[in-house]
Amino acid sequence: MNLNDPISVLKGVGEKTEKHLNKLGIFTVGHLLEHYPRNYDVYSEPVKIQQLVEGKTAAVAVKITKKPDVVTLRRLQVVTLDIADGTGALTLKWYNMPFLRNTLQIGESYVFRGKVVKKGSRISMEQPEVLDLKSYNEKLEFMQPIYPLTEGVTNHLLIKLIKMVLSDRDLRSEFLDEDIRRRYRLAEYNYSIEQIHFPDNKESMMKARQRLVFNEFYLFALAIQSMKESHEAADNQYPITEFKVCDDFIHRLPYPLTGAQVKTWCEIRRDLSGSKVMNRLIQGDVGSGKTVIAQLALLAAADAGYQGCLMAPTEVLARQHYESFVRDFEPMGIKVVILTGSMTAKEKRLACEKIMNHEADIIIGTHALIQENVKYDRLALVITDEQHRFGVRQREFLSGKGEAPHVLVMSATPIPRTLAIILYGDLDISVIDELPAKRLPIKNCAVNTSYRPKAYQFIENQVRMGHQAYIICPMVEESENMDGENVLDYTEKIRKVLPKNICVEYLHGQQKPKEKNEIMERFAKGEIQVLVSTTVVEVGVNVPNATVMMIEDAQRFGLAQLHQLRGRVGRGQWQSYCIFINTSDSQTAGDRLDVLVKSNDGFFIAGEDLKMRGPGDLFGLKQSGLMEFKIGDLYNDMPVLKAAGDAAKEISANDPGLLNHPALKEKLDEYMKHTLDTLVL
Ligand code: ADP
Ligand code: MG
Repeated sequence: MNLNDPISVLKGVGEKTEKHLNKLGIFTVGHLLEHYPRNYDVYSEPVKIQQLVEGKTAAVAVKITKKPDVVTLRRLQVVTLDIADGTGALTLKWYNMPFLRNTLQIGESYVFRGKVVKKGSRISMEQPEVLDLKSYNEKLEFMQPIYPLTEGVTNHLLIKLIKMVLSDRDLRSEFLDEDIRRRYRLAEYNYSIEQIHFPDNKESMMKARQRLVFNEFYLFALAIQSMKESHEAADNQYPITEFKVCDDFIHRLPYPLTGAQVKTWCEIRRDLSGSKVMNRLIQGDVGSGKTVIAQLALLAAADAGYQGCLMAPTEVLARQHYESFVRDFEPMGIKVVILTGSMTAKEKRLACEKIMNHEADIIIGTHALIQENVKYDRLALVITDEQHRFGVRQREFLSGKGEAPHVLVMSATPIPRTLAIILYGDLDISVIDELPAKRLPIKNCAVNTSYRPKAYQFIENQVRMGHQAYIICPMVEESENMDGENVLDYTEKIRKVLPKNICVEYLHGQQKPKEKNEIMERFAKGEIQVLVSTTVVEVGVNVPNATVMMIEDAQRFGLAQLHQLRGRVGRGQWQSYCIFINTSDSQTAGDRLDVLVKSNDGFFIAGEDLKMRGPGDLFGLKQSGLMEFKIGDLYNDMPVLKAAGDAAKEISANDPGLLNHPALKEKLDEYMKHTLDTLVL
């Protein structure tokens, strides 16, 4: 067996299981080892019945005073046993385990371990494990791994497969120098891999985790560095020195640029005219005005006779950029072309021809821009909008479309500068840390469902004043598996509530792209006043006339995502409002939403999100899709990230190309081929 072998080499992994495992990102035997537990089930000291907490797994130790009952319901045999320990009573229930009646002896003590369920005032455990005191004591503090799962993959299966792979000791080998390990106090690799899956105790697990977090950040830093080296070598083949059209464009804007926008634009101008190719990140919160900066850079490139392109993560956003670019640039004689996946083959062919013949100066699109058959002509500038929606690799692919073009990436990810320097180590950074002056801060409220009638009245009033509203639902249609509002039913409902002359439409990801574009266009034109939508409007959509964002089941979404959604309003000069409807009665849900009510600042929100997770909660929920490393946690493991960054710098300086570190080189190559693509930063 080899680490790069497909998982189908493992006994018991057939075609079907292989497909399921692939869904978890597990393609090779090596990936299986790096499928780390998301938590552990710990056998802790038994507690008193009174101390049991609903929903939590716990153990109680009790002496039995009677035999369990067995009843047959339909064809199910149900064993029940009521126990008590002086502090309270508990019902235990097992299905199809009639033999328990003979196993459990009156007068003997047992430990029952299971998840606590509450029905009315009665608490119970279903299918609890049964152990005698001695064997429970032996298991005490035992940590059973709990893995991220998907349909068709059980925890049990993963435990079995990982044990199988771990038993082949020749498979793995240390790839860090003795020296590095000593300096950063890192555990040995083989030990760490074993201990992360099947820890002897909490301490050894933490030690193992530390080492594996280092691994992950170290490989990441090395990968970023190798990307940086390949950029840095590049000279500026497209010097752009003439910016008069841009100055004129700025003068014609209906608003003055903010100080932060001006500063960013100056940095870009300096790059474009400098001796080295530009590689720059613009970091700016939602609504800070990044698009106009992209426009200026593309305008400068087009004016110099080059091509430039802008890649957006969704069709809706690409289309929106296209419309506004056409409006702004066509009168100046600059040709703008759009290329997206949903266009017909003929439309695509025409667009590609225009791109190839340089009948297009500025090209706007989605992932379609990096497809093989698209050939550019003197492509001098590539921009990715909402970089946090793309993989690190996709931006590489886009720049690979030209001969070392200038690269600009734009992101709203709120991360501290110290972190950004490492994460985007291959890029220079500009920060737009100032919102346009005339913006009124959004007014927020988090309320329960009884507030709905008031909210609808409020929306109606805003529409009367000429404004528009978004209503976000978590689902597209009714689902058996999940409660919650859905776009289709909600649209029907709200059409009945609001006066007939208010046009309500819906938008969701399962619609045909054409349909989506049409709805968005009509909403942008103000023909639709209320848009009921899923989170497809989350990124980048800009309709400044919209002043209300109402989010149903708001507690379902991550804070970062809610902040992005809210960013769809408050983009014009009018007072805007965000209404978070909290449909749960959980205290934590309320506390989380309160953070958003209190603040409109993405940095602050990210920080609070982190605090609420608690520093000890290393395996807690990750930030909704952003910056998800496999095991490392960007915030809590920041010192490890810094150490790994330093170590990576050092080794690249001493051994460029890692010629003297073949094992590490092999690991890095695999990492860059597989893992880097899946990282979304
Ligand atoms: P984001 O940074 O989220 O991409 P946009 O570039 O879409 O933000 O800008 C949001 C809105 O703010 C747009 O309607 C844009 O026209 C407007 N805008 C941009 N810069 C300024 C400014 N300096 N003053 C006033 N409005 C601005
Ligand atoms: Mg934007």
